[in-house]
Amino acid sequence: MAEAETEGAGATAVDPVCQMTVAVADDTPTSVHGGQAYYFCCVPCQKAFDKDPARYLP
Ligand SMILES: [Zn+2]
Repeated sequence: MAEAETEGAGATAVDPVCQMTVAVADDTPTSVHGGQAYYFCCVPCQKAFDKDPARYLP
């Protein structure tokens, strides 16, 4: 019995820069790399990833 469940609500992702779990929302900083979307806790993490994605990927 989830309350107010809408498509995409409650989705989470792990920020590859700081390993924090972030809630995916319309205003979540996002980068697409190699066909995969990555989500970030904040814009500085997104910028760090964009600068050198390979550093943060396995
Ligand atoms: Zn972060």
